Order: sequence, then structure tokens, then C-alpha cells
Amino acid sequence: MTAPYNFSAGPAMLPRAVLERAQKELRSWRGSGTSVMEISHRDPAFMQMAAKAEQDLRDLMAIPENYQVLFMHGGGRGQFSAVPQNIAGPHATVDYLNSGIWSDFAIREAQKYVAQVNVVGGAIDTKRGRALASPESWQLSADAAYFHYCPNETMDGVALHDIPEAVTAPVVADMSSNILSEPLAVERFGVIYAGAQKNIGPSGFAIAIVRDDLLGRAQSNTSTIMDYTAQAKERSMYNTPNTWAWYLSGLVFEWLKEQGGLAAMGQVNQRKADLLYNLIDSSDFYRNQVHPDFRSKMNVPFVLADAQRDGDFLKAAEQQGLLGLKGHRFVGGMRASIYNAMPLEGVVALVDFMREFEQKHS
Ligand code: PMP
Repeated sequence: MTAPYNFSAGPAMLPRAVLERAQKELRSWRGSGTSVMEISHRDPAFMQMAAKAEQDLRDLMAIPENYQVLFMHGGGRGQFSAVPQNIAGPHATVDYLNSGIWSDFAIREAQKYVAQVNVVGGAIDTKRGRALASPESWQLSADAAYFHYCPNETMDGVALHDIPEAVTAPVVADMSSNILSEPLAVERFGVIYAGAQKNIGPSGFAIAIVRDDLLGRAQSNTSTIMDYTAQAKERSMYNTPNTWAWYLSGLVFEWLKEQGGLAAMGQVNQRKADLLYNLIDSSDFYRNQVHPDFRSKMNVPFVLADAQRDGDFLKAAEQQGLLGLKGHRFVGGMRASIYNAMPLEGVVALVDFMREFEQKHS
């Protein structure tokens, strides 16, 4: 694959093979003469496709039988409210790790639905960069209905690579920006959720993987489309699902299987991240401000030593077909998002460009 390469944090690039297949099938899906968007979600062909997408996701992530896979509305933030409404009563205490900006948003949403949101700990600044407080220092509640964390903070580029061990409450993880990026022990979680627009498919769609024993607990005023139990019962078709997003996500799951599954993705993703961090660390021109132990493998934020050059950098990058590198408006600087769909060659092209830009401007 050649440039352009799209480093957007999300909506992010989809595998080119998936887009080409969707293009080929757009006007007449499975020879039907209509697109997949224009048929009933109850149509047997659609139902079969939907079930296969779920099964492919189950295969890829090795999701145990005692988990529901739900295809939900409302992206990642929809789940910020779905989680407390579904898993905790209004009088409950819930624990949250505040590892960055997205955790903070999740905390603020949870405060609307439960009596006590206890922040157990969070990001700290160290000499080697931004890190997370060690799990031994977390102030866990004795009676938390769940423990929530975001293993990959998309804006901050901060990751918690180990699944917390000391936590006894069901662990809930916002994996919007790292789901499907490497093998995962799903059985260690109560709920895993992700907005789709990074490693799955189109935005506005979300996947929630919910352990059976956490069903049946929703607060009585939970809207039915956000109710895990109702959605599980209706196989995520309580109302009309986002059929187009479901279809495209299914194509992405098939593509992931063809790539060799999550073990293969994990290896490529590690190589991509290493390439980029090695370049940054070997230079005084670029800087990443995260402690090496807590660096994201999906989102690599970096700054130029001379911030005056940011504009030139972004313009020159774009001229080379390296797109979407501007950092989030809350954070500034640059950010390269290197999700599953970003091929190794894209990261090689970025690293080559960064090296040349440095030579020209230092
Ligand atoms: N959580 C994380 C970690 C995210 O990166 C994002 C979006 N970038 C969200 C939640 C929110 O997702 P959405 O915009 O789909 O609501």
C-alpha cells in the first residue's frame, strides 16, 4: 500500500481491502440488487451476516460463552452512561482510575447515575514523563459495584498494559482505542466496551462485551436502547441497529482473521510503535512526554522541541500524503494514531519523513 496514509485518531482509517470490498458490494449486496443498507435488519441474509460478525468477533477475541456481545448505539460516550446505569444501582459506590482525559469524561458521566464515584488514583508526572500511580497506591472501595479504567488513553497516549490484579470488583474497560490490537484475556473483565471508529468500523456504533452475571441489574429508568439486558434478549435488535456499521465491522473482523488474528496484529502493532518511539527517543528534535512503561502502542503523541515549527511540519507531512497528524485540540502538538489498519509501510514512511524534516530544520 502506498501513500496517502491516514494517522487520524478517529474516525480512523479502515483497511483498504475492506473499503474495496464494500465498494464492490455497495449497489448489490449478495446479488440482491440492493445495498446492505436498504434491506430489513430482520431479513434472513442480514441476520446471518450479523450473527457471523458476532461469531467472528468471538473467535478473534476468544470471548467465553458466558459473555454477551452487544452491538450498541452512541459510540464510546454512550457507554460512559450505559455502564453505571446497567451495572450499579443509584446508591452504589463505583471505582474509577483517572488515567487521562477520556477517563475523566467517563467519571463525570458516571456521577450523574450513582451516589459515589471514587477516583482510586490516576496519572502522575515523573522525571521520565507521564505515568500512572502504581496499583498498590490505589484507594479501592471495599464495596464498589465495579472498577472502571481506560487501558489506552487516546489523547494522552498513556496506556496501562497490565490488567489490574488487586481489584475484586468486576473490571470494566473502555477499550475504544485498543480493542482488537493484541490478544486479551477477556475472562478477566466484567464489561469491555469500545466506540467503533478506531479499530472496528464507522463512528456512532459501539460494542459492549458483558459478562452474564452483570445482566439484570439496570436502574429502572435506563432507556431501553441502552439496557444491556434488553439488548441481549433482542440480540442487539431491540430497535433498528446501525446495519451499515454492523456490516462494515463484520468485514473488518473477516479481514482481521485473514491477517492471522490478534496475535499477528499484536506483533505488527508492536513493531510499528517501536519504530516510531525509537525515532523520537533518538532525537532531540522530537519528544514524547510519556514514561516508557506507560506508552500507548496505538496513539503516539509527540511535540517538536520548537513548537513554532508545528505548522510547517504538518504542512510538509500532508504534502507527502501523511495525513491526520495534528494533535487533539485539548493537547496540541502532533499525534500519530497507528491502529490495526495502518500498515507497517505507513509508519516507515512517517519515520522517514520525520528524519528528513529534522535534518532539514536542525
Ligand atoms: N473513549 C475513548 C478512549 C476514546 O478515544 C473516545 C473517542 N475518541 C471515546 C471514549 C468517545 O467515543 P465517541 O466519540 O464514540 O463517543
